[in-house]
Amino acid sequence: MPREKVKQLMTSEPGRDVLVKGWVRTRRGSKQVSFVALNDGSTINNIQVVIDMQAFDEDKLRLITTGACLAVEGELVKSEGRGQKVEIQAKKIEIYGPANPEKYPLQKKGHSMEFLREIAHLRFRTNTFGAVFRIRHAMAYAIHKYFNDRGFYYLHTPIITGSDAEGAGEMFRVTTFDLNDAPRDKNGGVDYSRDFFGKETNLTVSGQLEGEMGALSLGEIYTFGPTFRAENSNTPRHLAEFWMIEPEMAFYDIDDNMDLAEDLTKYLITYALDNCYDDLEFLNNMIDKGLIDRLRFVLDNEYARITYTQAVDVLLKADKQWEFPVGWGKDLQAEHERYLVEQYYKRPVMITDYPMDIKAFYMKQNDDGKTVRALDVLFPFIGEIIGGSQREEEYDKLERRIKELGMPREQLWWFMETRKFGTAPHSGFGLGFERLILFVTGMKNIRDVIPFPRTPRSAEF
Ligand code: ATP
Ligand code: MN
Repeated sequence: MPREKVKQLMTSEPGRDVLVKGWVRTRRGSKQVSFVALNDGSTINNIQVVIDMQAFDEDKLRLITTGACLAVEGELVKSEGRGQKVEIQAKKIEIYGPANPEKYPLQKKGHSMEFLREIAHLRFRTNTFGAVFRIRHAMAYAIHKYFNDRGFYYLHTPIITGSDAEGAGEMFRVTTFDLNDAPRDKNGGVDYSRDFFGKETNLTVSGQLEGEMGALSLGEIYTFGPTFRAENSNTPRHLAEFWMIEPEMAFYDIDDNMDLAEDLTKYLITYALDNCYDDLEFLNNMIDKGLIDRLRFVLDNEYARITYTQAVDVLLKADKQWEFPVGWGKDLQAEHERYLVEQYYKRPVMITDYPMDIKAFYMKQNDDGKTVRALDVLFPFIGEIIGGSQREEEYDKLERRIKELGMPREQLWWFMETRKFGTAPHSGFGLGFERLILFVTGMKNIRDVIPFPRTPRSAEF
């Protein structure tokens, strides 16, 4: 008999024999009859297995405890219990793996997120993490679908990079050298010319620069891959290894860029509501009572579109004691971003035209000589979810900026050539995948929306 998944069984008609396989969530009952809630990961819902205690060996029955893995064959029958249409009247039970109840770390009582992080190998077995990772999957799929349906190409940009143009100081070095015995050059420094790649290499902080190369030939591309930042920020919004979606589009100006950012994020939220409702409902009940309303609210409202200068004006007029001072030229801090989104505009906010000095070298310079066409998208409770810009496509301006900043021009020769040959206006942005999942699931800590988080001093599993 072929195995069927719980998700399908829940909506199928009773009156036939079925085979399910899964893990015991709970068991209750009496000497005569036992009720086992079995979950196979296909849905937040468990299927109820009804066991006639007289019909099975006592030795076997003793092993059916929370966490054990079973295969159950039986008749799918109409359920008299509340909340489920069908249940299984067990005829045959095979125990794949018992789970000693004295030792199994997951108990029926709620566990703290901190504790569950310590048992990240088992936390998938909880309702919360099952929901989070099903939603994470759905979002990854929807991202590919969104771009594919619109003619964007998925471009695989490198994970090992030879340029540190973007991430000076926050990159993870990649080397095959023995750190205790690395070859030295004549000045006593490490001689990277003898390393694996013949130069210094690092894990990428962004696929953007390579993504631009793709866009300036293929038109519209996106990357979706892991990125690495060795920033020592122990916050609920930062990981050392995270996933980023980076669309890059020829012929888009900053307004087209904003339109895409708004359309993409709304599409993804709609996709979650349409395809993950059971899981969202569970998270809404257990984690964050405002979740589903908040998702709907974002869909029903246009994002505010303001400039950095307007944002600073709003913040200066606010009747607030800021921890970090507000002033034109200073970067916006989380407290400022959250005020704008949660208290002032009360919807997602897209801020453009930041001071040149606080943004990256490749952003398009405005005619005022002071600002660049940067774009940050801020979400309620998350803060920055997207960072992007229209790119500087003029060779001379870019060259001047690189010099001003004292950047390693020679590493960027290939980047500059696209401005030399057939340059074009273009734009792009980076959407932090885990920040999106935080917003869609209502989870509070970014460590709880990636299967195995990497953060300072933590790389278990
Ligand atoms: P922040 O100011 O929040 O550190 P950033 O300005 O460094 O963000 P970008 O370099 O613009 O961010 O990266 C694009 C997006 O990637 C961000 O908008 C955010 O969603 C996500 N992101 C950036 N750093 C991290 C991180 N350490 N962990 C998880 N996501 C991140
Ligand atoms: Mn950062």
